[in-house]
Amino acid sequence: MKCSQCGVCCKLFVINLNEEEYKSGRFKTVFEKFGFVDNFAEAELIGAHLLAQKEDGETCIYLQDGKCSIHQDRPQACREFFCESKEEWCQDMIERIRKYKENKS
Ligand code: SF4
Repeated sequence: MKCSQCGVCCKLFVINLNEEEYKSGRFKTVFEKFGFVDNFAEAELIGAHLLAQKEDGETCIYLQDGKCSIHQDRPQACREFFCESKEEWCQDMIERIRKYKENKS
């Protein structure tokens, strides 16, 4: 399923950067003000490779007006998110999100 840029997953999940993404410095990360962790395994262990969130603590820093502001260059985890998965449990989650959105509108 193609990403419709609904923005729901950008509020539900914390995004893990892979090693290349983390080391590239292209993305804002949750603990970056405390310095860069050279060893990626260590970064994973302490969560330094997680994408930064807004002050509300539940929204991705790159979500602007309900859309991903870096859509063309979004992390791998976002590209491979379950919207594109054919796994049964992913389809169940998609259905739950659809119902959640319907109830909010
Ligand atoms: S980088 Fe973009 S697609 Fe990924 S969680 Fe943030 S706003 Fe959503």
